[in-house]
Amino acid sequence: MAVLELKNVKKYYKMPGGGQYEALRGVSAKFNAGEMVAIVGESGSGKSTLMNTIGGLDSDFEGEILYEGKNLRDFSKAEMVNYHKKSIGFIFQNFNLIPHLDLIDNVSIAMTLSNIDESVRRERAKELLKKVGLEEHMYKKPDQLSGGQKQRVAIARALVNDPDVIIADEPTGALDAETTDVILNMIREIAVEGKLVLMVTHSDKVASHCSRVLRIDQGQIISDQEQVKLEHKQESREEIQVHNMNMWKAVKLAFKNMKAKLGRNALVSTGMGIGIMSVILMLSLGKGVTSYVSDQMNTYSNPLVTEVHKNTTAKARSQSMSAMQQNNSASVAKARQQGISSLTGTSSASAFSDKDLKKLKKIKHVSKIQKGFTALSLGGNQVTFKKKSASVIYLNTVNNSIAKSEVKKGRLPKSGSNEIMIDSGTADTLSKKLLGKTVKAKLQLGTKTITKKFKVVGLYESASSAGQMSTLFLTYKDLKKLFKDNGSTLKANVVYLTSSDKKYTSDIKAAVKDKGFSGSMQEQMTEMFDSILNVLTYVLTAIAAVSLVVSAIMILVVLNISVVERTQEIGVMKALGARRKDIRRIFSSEAFLLGLASGIVGVVLTGLLSLAINHFTQSAFDAAVVTMTPQYAAIGVVVSVVISMIAGILPSNHASKLDPIDALRKE
Ligand code: ADP
Ligand code: MG
Repeated sequence: MAVLELKNVKKYYKMPGGGQYEALRGVSAKFNAGEMVAIVGESGSGKSTLMNTIGGLDSDFEGEILYEGKNLRDFSKAEMVNYHKKSIGFIFQNFNLIPHLDLIDNVSIAMTLSNIDESVRRERAKELLKKVGLEEHMYKKPDQLSGGQKQRVAIARALVNDPDVIIADEPTGALDAETTDVILNMIREIAVEGKLVLMVTHSDKVASHCSRVLRIDQGQIISDQEQVKLEHKQESREEIQVHNMNMWKAVKLAFKNMKAKLGRNALVSTGMGIGIMSVILMLSLGKGVTSYVSDQMNTYSNPLVTEVHKNTTAKARSQSMSAMQQNNSASVAKARQQGISSLTGTSSASAFSDKDLKKLKKIKHVSKIQKGFTALSLGGNQVTFKKKSASVIYLNTVNNSIAKSEVKKGRLPKSGSNEIMIDSGTADTLSKKLLGKTVKAKLQLGTKTITKKFKVVGLYESASSAGQMSTLFLTYKDLKKLFKDNGSTLKANVVYLTSSDKKYTSDIKAAVKDKGFSGSMQEQMTEMFDSILNVLTYVLTAIAAVSLVVSAIMILVVLNISVVERTQEIGVMKALGARRKDIRRIFSSEAFLLGLASGIVGVVLTGLLSLAINHFTQSAFDAAVVTMTPQYAAIGVVVSVVISMIAGILPSNHASKLDPIDALRKE
């Protein structure tokens, strides 16, 4: 039985302006194993068209092509892939070697596509390179070879899966006369070993070396002559099992290509890495600042206690601002007075009325409500001990929110015995042993200033660095009496609510705000911090979003360029039996690798940047504000890979759908 049989094969090409061009007009022929057939004809006579059709690269033809009696038209997809991989070996005029692979990889690419083990592949490739006399060059890249050497590599590649048919389309067309002889002898050797060789040529001299000459003109066979019979040697045939290429091999191929375009890929990865960096930084900064703030919150006070202020400080401030804008000296003076009195705690607006207290008492889970007074003095409060004086900024009442750990030495003052607690910083400036001693204190009570002796029973040290301000504490009861003795009344300007359980504290804080009161100064600061963080997060999110979109486009463009650059390579791979899936996999692997590299670049950049930021904030606030966790790094890498793979879908699909004939025609 003939290896190949053509029955009335016709091929039409569609013309750009409509209509058809008949490139093959009913070609019929039989070809047997061991034949070396020269296909001769003028340029444009249809030789390449015939070869591509026989080779299964073009299935859009009329008539029948039988391979070992089986109609190509009836081949399943898998059978067609096998036909490419095992039955047909292509040799092209312009070699079509893959530029970024070394000779071994070029020769064994068909085996890679067949999922054959690396060691077997290399062994076989070396053996074939030796056969074509190139074993010394096997680690070179194609562009380091001469034309004749390249064609020898291409011959080795065509033979690697031990096919039955070799199709060579003008294999010597690009070679000089001397090299032509070498290549021809090699191809002849293939036929001598028992394979069917179909070789297109222009040259009659070349044709004279063949066992049969088929002349074609305008898509028809015009003569078919048997010449010398070849003497056959029987070669022992190797049975090569072909399978489908797996993902890992696709990744490896992609990796080799990426290495060849290292500079470009490094640039793209850096670009995308910056986008990924903003994602990770955003998450890490959010986490770092939040935990810093909540750390501060927790050290400030007793977690059961909520400090409540009247919502006046902000109001007073905005009033004075608007008064200044009005440029009315009377209202400026009034507003300034209000601002000061609200700070010093003596404004009537900051005092709690009975109605306010009732409202607060009604909040759920409040087990205790304690009145307090806190005032900022502008130089009016002073403590004197043995001729040394220190001014005290805050006058405060003893309250439930003071944590036990904040009383560094001694105890809290008790009512009725003129006891006070002062912060340890102020105490130290007066004497190292102030605890238990009696000091003279000048205190500003509303509009009056009094001087009185007190016993220091406790030294206070705020748990937070922001709370280190000179403060004098006495009980509310004592302070109330002091006011009364001096002809005025003390009105609470702060209230402490104790929760029946820690878990209700946040509900109470929320309820306090609901009812129109505000929290402690620290809480207000935290809120401010939070809103700054929010703005920062928005900015970073915007940067991240924009740069990720840009990166996605960049990757799309780069992969598209890669597809265009490698059109020929894609054509070769398809001719060697690569499925669409395989091509798609190679390009999506590239997208994957680009994404992975970008993700890693992003993680490294974030790491470096967070070191710098933390170094700065460490010295500014004594805290690291960027906390990059392994999870955030992982999220960054995953986001990068996902975006990159999405961007890679279009180019990969485009590559997989390229027509191998078009792809191979491209120079
Ligand atoms: P040869 O290899 O003998 O030089 P080809 O088989 O390449 O010739 O081409 C045969 C004829 O078919 C030529 O006239 C060519 O212009 C035409 N042809 C080849 N490919 C196409 C195509 N894709 N679209 C339209 N016409 C084509
Ligand atoms: Mg041609």
